[in-house]
Amino acid sequence: MQVPGPFDYERATGVEHAVGLLERLGEGARVVAGGHSLLPMMKLRLANPEYLVDINDLAGELGYLEVEPTRVRLGALVRHRQALESEELAAVCPIFRDAERVIADPVVRNRGTVGGSLCQADPAEDLTTVCTVLDATCVIRGPEGTRRIAMRDFLVGPYETALAYNELLLGIEIPRRARTSSAYAKVERRVGDWAIVAAGARVTLARGGTVEDAGIGLTAANPDTAALLAASRELVGEEPTETTIAEVGRRAGAACSPVSDMRGSAEYKRHLATELTMRAVRSAVARARAAGEREGQ
Ligand SMILES: Cc1cc2nc3c(=O)[nH]c(=O)nc-3n(C[C@H](O)[C@H](O)[C@H](O)COP(=O)(O)OP(=O)(O)OC[C@H]3O[C@@H](n4cnc5c(N)ncnc54)[C@H](O)[C@@H]3O)c2cc1C
Repeated sequence: MQVPGPFDYERATGVEHAVGLLERLGEGARVVAGGHSLLPMMKLRLANPEYLVDINDLAGELGYLEVEPTRVRLGALVRHRQALESEELAAVCPIFRDAERVIADPVVRNRGTVGGSLCQADPAEDLTTVCTVLDATCVIRGPEGTRRIAMRDFLVGPYETALAYNELLLGIEIPRRARTSSAYAKVERRVGDWAIVAAGARVTLARGGTVEDAGIGLTAANPDTAALLAASRELVGEEPTETTIAEVGRRAGAACSPVSDMRGSAEYKRHLATELTMRAVRSAVARARAAGEREGQ
């Protein structure tokens, strides 16, 4: 049986308390939220924290999910299930529901959190791609106060973020734009599994129907970053025709660098990157058109 090494446990009573604990306990301390990534790593002794700082009592401060006129705000302690079931979130960022319904299983979704997913920074984590594509900003609290950084700067590398040892992710902010929508397409070996490869897309249409802005990202197809800036740029200024979308898919497949492993060969994953990018972009475009009609624009 795999068991974690010895550790001490502190239960934070508020954000300031949590940050104070992280500061006082130093680099040997780790935050625990849902525990679905950290505890398996502790059992395998891949993570050996001396202290766990449990933030589950901070749901009052970090469990918010608010759709505002110009942005969407999600607290770090929003559970996957909450993000999956929110009609308000699905209406403005449908990519969340697309992704959440294929993240793990109900047991993991009941407990795993948006913040934990992002802080884990696993290249196979679905929400990393979702939040990168949506151009999210991370809100971070440390002893010096609150700071904000773009999702693409938050992700430093595989399993590595821009968080210092004494900082807590409070949540994310996603800008809302007119005539904009998003989609996520994933292929996994069996229901509830991690992605073999997945793709996310956000599209903003100009009034005339060309693409004004776009974000494209891949899950589990690169060693680190989820963003595909070159493929996204390919769309901007273009009519989103099948020919354009096929070219964007081809670029995504060419730009990624998957590795062969038990989930599939690198060649198969490249093929998926191309195909899933096309599906996600196609769906995001159709949804952006529908959003524009609903908004009367
Ligand atoms: C069987 C199984 C299948 C899964 N399948 C998928 C899948 O298909 N797709 C997918 O994307 N994910 C999958 N996951 C991962 C799941 O989404 C986890 O819930 C998620 O990765 C971590 O969230 P958590 O709240 O459990 O984080 P925890 O395990 O508590 O923490 C993860 C890391 O984040 C840090 N942390 C957590 N919250 C904060 C915070 N607010 N501020 C600073 N640091 C913080 C912790 O210190 C730790 O380093 C799966 C997990 C399991 C167990």
